[in-house]
Amino acid sequence: MDDNKKVRVRFAPSPTGFVHIGSLRTALYDYLFAKKTGGEFILKIEDTDQKRYVEGSVESLIKSLDWVGLNWSEGVFLNENINSDKSSIVKSKTYPTVSEVGEFGPYIQSEKLEVYKKYVDQLVKAGHAYYCFCEPERLEKMRAEQTAEKKAPMYDRYCLHNVSEEEINKNLKNSCPYTIRMKMPEGEIIETDDLVRGKVKFNTDLIDDQVLLKSDGFPTYHLANVIDDHEMEITHVIRGEEWLPSLPKHILLYRYFGWEVPKFAHLPLLLNPDKTKLSKRQGDVAVEDYIKKGYLKEAIINFVALLGWNPGAGETQELFSLDELVEKFELEKVHKAGAVFDLKKLDWLNGQYIKKLSIDELYEKALPFFEQKDFFRQAGAEKKSPEFLKRVLTVELDRLPKLSDVGENNQFFFATDLQYDKALLRWKEMSDDDLKKTLEKSKDILENISQDNWSKENLEKILMDEAGEKRGELLWPLRAALTGAQKSPSPFEVAWVLGKTESLKRITKAISLV
Ligand code: GLU
Repeated sequence: MDDNKKVRVRFAPSPTGFVHIGSLRTALYDYLFAKKTGGEFILKIEDTDQKRYVEGSVESLIKSLDWVGLNWSEGVFLNENINSDKSSIVKSKTYPTVSEVGEFGPYIQSEKLEVYKKYVDQLVKAGHAYYCFCEPERLEKMRAEQTAEKKAPMYDRYCLHNVSEEEINKNLKNSCPYTIRMKMPEGEIIETDDLVRGKVKFNTDLIDDQVLLKSDGFPTYHLANVIDDHEMEITHVIRGEEWLPSLPKHILLYRYFGWEVPKFAHLPLLLNPDKTKLSKRQGDVAVEDYIKKGYLKEAIINFVALLGWNPGAGETQELFSLDELVEKFELEKVHKAGAVFDLKKLDWLNGQYIKKLSIDELYEKALPFFEQKDFFRQAGAEKKSPEFLKRVLTVELDRLPKLSDVGENNQFFFATDLQYDKALLRWKEMSDDDLKKTLEKSKDILENISQDNWSKENLEKILMDEAGEKRGELLWPLRAALTGAQKSPSPFEVAWVLGKTESLKRITKAISLV
């Protein structure tokens, strides 16, 4: 391949329901590689498997990619996002909410069936592919027998050897259902260099005569993928390792058509912490699920980027913005070994990015999550005010792994009437009398702090001074009275969030319990 050719990479998802976190990694690596090399990043849709199509998934996939900030320059866009200055905009016939932009369309496979048919006919003519009229029952029986004999299921080439030209024509005239299969060469080793995996070799004797055109007139992934990539002048194919077994079929197709083969990079599998393949059973795999849980896009991008790549030995940096990733990313540095999907790391990264937000930004992002919580819905109006919530967030900021956790560990902030066991108020072996006295002392101290001086810092300073050596005796009952909880942030922080009136109300109630 001409190394000076402009880089063109594509993300080619199938609209089957949700964006898998692994697909997001493919899209991100495509994006980073394109940006880094000054190339184009293209979005096309592989929807040849009509049975697996899920309504609305093209739209939600575009929205997820948009949400994380991966911009593409060509391919499929939501109508609402198209700038009028883009040339050659074509409204999709299949998906009314999207349009296709660019000179290499259609970018939706179901819209170019005649193109695939034209090319597959060329293969048949050249003897690289053949008609197969076998009925599904025959194929199933054959497969069952092969499996029983512990052989890999392979088509037995009945139609290649036993159906004459005349019969083929007769069958076609009679509209007999057929598929077109690729003819695998015998005894050949297909060898190539993968940008991630290095040299890879495949023996064609172990590869089935792949169906290229299905009986419904749709191409299979293999045929459509190769034709698209050629027509769209794709220079680098970046995709998950699960597609590696398809590589020899694709290389042969390029060869049969006489086309230049793009470079390939097969990205490592994503693994659960127990090293099994990442699956829905062990947790969320859809990008949408992470968005719903309140992970920030910066954290998701950072996390996904590190699934199979890092800037190299000796580098300790862990936080990377999208721009930094563009600068540092190298396809050659992607690892071969499976990448472990460690949710704890994602939580940590998310916590780091949350800490970087201003309180106003955090409030904007956190409000929809508060609104989903029962403790919030049941709270009084003053506890739903922006000022109150911003104080809660200020206290929670340093210990918030994700936005959906807001308020969860500190629900006492929102309570109208705290319920707790009186025993919780007691510091060690303290008598009732002493307990009452210490609570009254706290009440006195707080009463004497004016509203203007009601800051976290002042509260801390004054209460610490008053407590002197006997911290627990003053601060434990106070903290318990304010929170009704075994564990919570410090009494200074809690009193600051609650405000003077509510704090005094809670202490007064505690005194009445003793
Ligand atoms: N449609 C395939 C997928 O969903 C694309 C594979 C490729 O990039 O060749 O992952």
